[in-house]
This record gives sequence, C-alpha cells and structure tokens, in this order.
Amino acid sequence: MEESAGGFPVPRVDDALCTRCGLCLQSCPGAKGDDAPSGDLFPDRCFVGHAVDPEVRRRSASGGGVTALLLSLLDSGEITGALLAKDPGDGSLRPKGFVARTAEEIRSAAGSHYVATPLLAALPNRIPEGERLAVVGLPCQIRALENAARRNRSWNDRVVLKIGLVCDRSLSARVADYAKWRAGADDAVRISWRDKGARLPDGRTGWPGAIRVETASGKEIALPTQERMWVKDRFTGLHCRLCEDKFNSRADVVFGDPYGVSDAPEGESAVLVRTDRGAEALENARAAGFLELRRVEKAALAAKHKAKSSTPRTDAEKALFELSRKVSERGVPSEEFPEIAALYESRLRKENRARLRRRIVRIAKKPFSVLRTFLRKAARHG
Ligand SMILES: Cc1cc2nc3c(=O)[nH]c(=O)nc-3n(C[C@H](O)[C@H](O)[C@H](O)COP(=O)(O)OP(=O)(O)OC[C@H]3O[C@@H](n4cnc5c(N)ncnc54)[C@H](O)[C@@H]3O)c2cc1C
Ligand code: SF4
Ligand code: SF4
Repeated sequence: MEESAGGFPVPRVDDALCTRCGLCLQSCPGAKGDDAPSGDLFPDRCFVGHAVDPEVRRRSASGGGVTALLLSLLDSGEITGALLAKDPGDGSLRPKGFVARTAEEIRSAAGSHYVATPLLAALPNRIPEGERLAVVGLPCQIRALENAARRNRSWNDRVVLKIGLVCDRSLSARVADYAKWRAGADDAVRISWRDKGARLPDGRTGWPGAIRVETASGKEIALPTQERMWVKDRFTGLHCRLCEDKFNSRADVVFGDPYGVSDAPEGESAVLVRTDRGAEALENARAAGFLELRRVEKAALAAKHKAKSSTPRTDAEKALFELSRKVSERGVPSEEFPEIAALYESRLRKENRARLRRRIVRIAKKPFSVLRTFLRKAARHG
C-alpha cells in the first residue's frame, strides 16, 4: 500500500504480476459501489456499557467495550488473535493494521484511529489452519473482508467474529500533519485522537477526550476535541461522503459512542447486536466479568445517531462534496494549515462570546425571577 496525493492508502499494483482478474475491484466496496446497508440500521438488541477493568475503560475511545470483548475472547480461547489498527508510534502518525496475539497487544490498540487505515493489508492471504481471528473494522473494512472472503476460503473459515465500529468518516493522513503543526511538535511520535486523561489548559478531562500529541522528548500536548470536530470537513475524502453504511450492517456486533443514552465522563460504548454469534460473544464477556452492559431502547440511540444521506441536496452540502473531491485528489497542502486554524479560532471566539452572552442574560434575569417568586408567594399569603 502507498499514500495517495490526497493522503489516503491506495494499493500499489505490480503490472508485471497482475493478471487483470478483477478480484480486487470486486472486493472493494468503494469500487463496486455496493455499500447500501442491509437490514435495520439499529437492531432490536441494543445495549450500553463499559469495560469492567478501569484501566481498559480509561484508555479506550468510548467505554472500552471492544477491548473488553477481545480480552474475553482471547482469555476463553475462542480466538487466537485479532486484526486491529494501531498508531505504530514511529513518528509516521499513520495507523496500520496488525494481528494482536496477547492481552497486552490488544490493550495497546485501544482508541479510535481517525486517519484512514489500510487494515486488511495486515491479514495474511492464507490464514493458517488452527487460527481463529476476530476482526475489528469500520463498515467499509468489514464489507471488503466479507466480499474477499467469498473468494478466499481461509478468510471465510478463520475469521470467527466481525466486530464493527460505527463510522461517520475517516480522514486524510494530512489531518495528522495538521495536528502535529498545531501542537508545534516537530518531533511528534504518536497521536491519540481521543484521550480521556489528557488535560486541556482549562482543566477539562473525560469523554470524549482531547487530542494528545506525544513527542520523542516525552512531552504531551493536548488539543481540544472540538478542533477535530470543526476541522474534519477540511480533511474528509469523497469516498466517506458517498458512504451509506455508517452503522456497519455486516458486522456481528457493532460499537459506537453512546450519544443519547450516556454522557458519563469515564465513557461508555453503545452496542448494536446484529447476529446470534455477536450476542453469544457479548454474553460470554459479560458472564466472565469483562463487560458491564444494560439494555437500551434502539429509539433512544437512533434519535441522536444520524446516518447522513450520500446525495448532496443543499448548496452547503454540494460545497462540501466539492471540497471533498479536492481533498481526495490533491490532499491539503501545508500552506492551508494557517487558514484552517484561523477558521477554527474565529468559530471558537464566536462560540465563547455567545456562551458569555447567555451567561450574562441568565445572571441578569436572576433578580427578576427571585422578585417574581417573592411577589407570587406574597400574593398567595395575602
Ligand atoms: C474512523 C472512525 C470513525 C468513527 N465515527 C463514529 C461516529 O460517527 N459515531 C459513533 O458513534 N462512533 C464512531 N466511531 C466509533 C467510536 O469512536 C469507538 O471506536 C467505538 O465507540 C468503540 O469504542 P470502545 O471504547 O468500545 O473501543 P476501544 O476499546 O477503544 O477499542 C477500539 C478498537 O477499534 C480499533 N480501531 C480503531 N480505529 C480503527 C480503524 N481506523 N480501523 C480499524 N480498527 C480501528 C482499535 O484497534 C481497537 O481495537 C468511529 C471510530 C472510528 C475509528
Ligand atoms: S486481484 Fe487480480 S486484478 Fe487485482 S491486482 Fe491482483 S491480479 Fe490484478
Ligand atoms: S464513512 Fe464509510 S467509507 Fe468512510 S471510513 Fe467510514 S465506513 Fe469507510
């Protein structure tokens, strides 16, 4: 795999070896355009919960549900390993896929890696006999796995559980270069996009967690989550704008943020159970003391998680598509970083002013509401 001009992983094909069989194009959901979700976006079996181990929960993206489930599967011998994504910590700031074999390796991959990741490139073409692997993946990765497994028996037989993530988008690797520049960290070695322990200058910590940039000299710089949220349109490629399967309809069990059902600062994971195999794995993890879960109404999750249509209708949506086309084709040049940062800063100032205005109005109204209550009480008592 190599990085495209846009900052996305693309396969390098050796023309001398390629037989033009077309299997790669038939497996890639982007190339096939087959990402319409199958079944219900939100199944009837929905839960929210978290890892019982507080350290797993603390280092995770949401509640550590994925890591807890993997640790349970490894502990019981149901899997021999798991295909996961991880920032290698070598300064490239580009996450990679790898097969985790130990509890420590599973723990080390926790967190959400927002930079587009060539996950399946790390799965051997022939998974050896005796292996039982879990795969954690975004909807497009799980779809590609399923498509390829139709033509690859060892993938079909030896991937025993597909653990999906909800996914609104992954970003051009240029976003990592932007975060490094924003942190002023020339020697950045690793970025955690959501660190619940990272402390912002105003003292805030907790879910959903700040961006943490680690440097070779051991420094840690925290940038607010809202910076990622507010600049992400500038790093979104066209494939994610066109994607329809944000809730991972082909996975056995899907994990996402608990929007609408929990805002615990320690973090919780929303869990959508799509198959009996997923239900069984989850129940075993709960019974073995790895996971704490409670049932939630799917309507409560559906109300806050919004799947976006891939058809741009308004002028603003059309402009975003155009922007994404540019991102995919040429990436985001470093010369644009100051302009992106300035847009973020100006929005921040506007929001801070609005927050201050709301506070002043609340304080100013207080004497009147006290007076009103006093007069009402006085009138009641004659
Ligand atoms: C690109 C991206 C976009 C997302 N968008 C949304 C969203 O819009 N709404 C929402 O509700 N949730 C979204 N999520 C899911 C959410 O951020 C958490 O990953 C999810 O809630 C699971 O959290 P956890 O604490 O249970 O997982 P953890 O215990 O932290 O484990 C996470 C696991 O996911 C794997 N992983 C992380 N990133 C990747 C990746 N890029 N490719 C493959 N595997 C990966 C890790 O290796 C790890 O094993 C997104 C995740 C990603 C990676
Ligand atoms: S899968 Fe077939 S078409 Fe694709 S690169 Fe390999 S040989 Fe070529
Ligand atoms: S939005 Fe769709 S195409 Fe983009 S990373 Fe997520 S699953 Fe893949």
